[in-house]
Amino acid sequence: MPFRNHPFSYVGPAEIAAAARQSDPGFPIVTPVDLVNWRSSQTAEIDAEGNLTATFTIGLDERLRLASRRSEHVACAAGGPVWGAGEVTFDASGKVVAISNYSTGFCPEAKWSWPTCQQVLDQIGLPHPGKFTTEVTFRRCPACHERNVVKDDHYACDLCGCALPAMWNFG
Ligand SMILES: [Zn+2]
Repeated sequence: MPFRNHPFSYVGPAEIAAAARQSDPGFPIVTPVDLVNWRSSQTAEIDAEGNLTATFTIGLDERLRLASRRSEHVACAAGGPVWGAGEVTFDASGKVVAISNYSTGFCPEAKWSWPTCQQVLDQIGLPHPGKFTTEVTFRRCPACHERNVVKDDHYACDLCGCALPAMWNFG
């Protein structure tokens, strides 16, 4: 078994989580055929190169779930918690050509999330790039509690300017 940290709980606004209870969870992907079936329901989202970008989550059941890229992660994950959440792009053959941990709802730490993402993609049989192609660093401001995306290694709160910690701090 790969090293794994704790799963990530929802850390976003309560009203988004409440609204998400009204919607269906993401479409579960167990085999490559499931991805083909889901893709056939998303034809309007496929770009000129045949790529399809989606919201994804991997819950405690270690099941990959997909939803429209405009969907909230907390809805896709039926509230969570998750091992992984972000955006994923598949090419026409079902290969993962881009994947990120970009979920402001769960703010997953990339290095703690990727091992399970990789394991689940391998189990389904979907080729992937072996890492998050985009790694997002999330930190909560210790002063005003805003969720921040750290940009260019600038560890300061967007809202109040307070210094952000080096270590992930949503636990
Ligand atoms: Zn702040």
